[in-house]
This record gives sequence, C-alpha cells and structure tokens, in this order.
Amino acid sequence: MTVSQTLPGYVLRISSRCKRVLIKVSPLGEIEVVIPQGFDPHEVPAILQRRQSWLAAHLSKLETRWAQAPDEHALRPSLIRLRALGRRWQVEHSACLNKQVRLKQEDECLQVRYSRAREADADVLISQRLQKWLNEQARQHLLPWLAQTARELELPYSKACIRAQKTRWGSCSAKKVISLNRNLLFLPPSLVRYLFVHELSHIQHMNHSCAYWQQVEKYEPEYQRLDAELGQAAKYLPRWVHV
Ligand SMILES: [Zn+2]
Repeated sequence: MTVSQTLPGYVLRISSRCKRVLIKVSPLGEIEVVIPQGFDPHEVPAILQRRQSWLAAHLSKLETRWAQAPDEHALRPSLIRLRALGRRWQVEHSACLNKQVRLKQEDECLQVRYSRAREADADVLISQRLQKWLNEQARQHLLPWLAQTARELELPYSKACIRAQKTRWGSCSAKKVISLNRNLLFLPPSLVRYLFVHELSHIQHMNHSCAYWQQVEKYEPEYQRLDAELGQAAKYLPRWVHV
C-alpha cells in the first residue's frame, strides 16, 4: 500500500500570506492543508505522514461524536451536514397554519414550519424547501470558493453558475463558463477542490489529453485518488435532494 492510500483525504489551499505549512481539522473532520505560495504540493503527503498519529487520534474522537448524530438521510432530516463547509444544522420540523413551507435559519438550527392541512404532501414540500435553501448556500459559498481557486491557479473563467444536476458534478464550456452542482456541498472539501481544479484546467485544455492531466497534477498531485473518490461520492447525498 502506498503512502497516499493510508492518509486521510485533505484539501489543499495556497496562501500568499501563509509563512509555513498549516494543518487544520474542521469540526466535521475535514482536513485542510494551507501551504505558502511557491511551496511544492508534492511534499504535503510526507508532512501528513509525520503527523499521522496526531491526526488519527483527532479524527477518531470526532468520529465517536458523529456516531451519535441523528438521522440525516430521512426525507424530513433532523440533521443537515454540509461537509464542504465543515458545517452542520439541526433541523426542527413543526406543523402550523401557514399555507407555504417556511424556513428560518438561526446559527446551527433550521426551523421548518409546514402546513398542517398538507401533512400528506409534507415530505415532498419540505424537501423542495430545503433544496431551495441548498441552492442559496451553494451560490453563497461555492461561487466565491471557485473564484478564489481560479485566482490561486491563475486560470480565469468567464462566468460560473450553480445547477441542480443529476449526473454531473460540474462542467466547463468552450466559452469558459463553469457550472457547479449544488450537491457538491455534501462532499468533503478535498473532492470539491479537486472538481474545481478539474474544471478550471479545462480552460486551457478542452479535453482529457496527457497535457491536460499533467496540468491537473501540477495543482493537485493526488488527482487520481480524488477522481476515483469523486466517482463514488453520490453516497454522501441525502435522500431529500432527490425528491
Ligand atoms: Zn473533464
């Protein structure tokens, strides 16, 4: 087994202000490695390898905490976890006399109020309202993140938009328009960043040629593992996004 297979996934960020390599772990157990501009990303796996016992202890503590988490895959979820952002929300559902489904967000809590008269359709109506909220989160967080990554890699695109795609995580058109799937929010940040690198690299190579993959590797040395993981990432999506 190679080094990279034993290491947990991580997202790489290049910072012009950062002076040394930083390893950050989010409350959801997502690892971010911040490297100074000009630092060779190929050195990161060896650094993580040296910190592996510290990381393993930290992650197992978080894992125990999440094992007690309530169900997040129900059509009326009591928890929503957006791994990409390292954030989670408790969801409280209550019936009321309103005609529409209302959603109120307060810090780590989403309050969903649905019509008592429409109890029979409540699962569908609540799912649709949560999807609308998800679109807002995607616009608010994925678009600036993509813009920041494009600046880091110096690969400018013309426009970016959020879509509710069923089969693709993202795309890049010949006019350099990048589309992102809102469901990327459920994925670990390492996979989201890889998808950004993948689509931004298409700005220079509109194909999957050797030159294209060499460019991807320059920005993301772990691209093969991440590409395979992205192929399996539908498992992160809760049922309510499919309604
Ligand atoms: Zn591609």
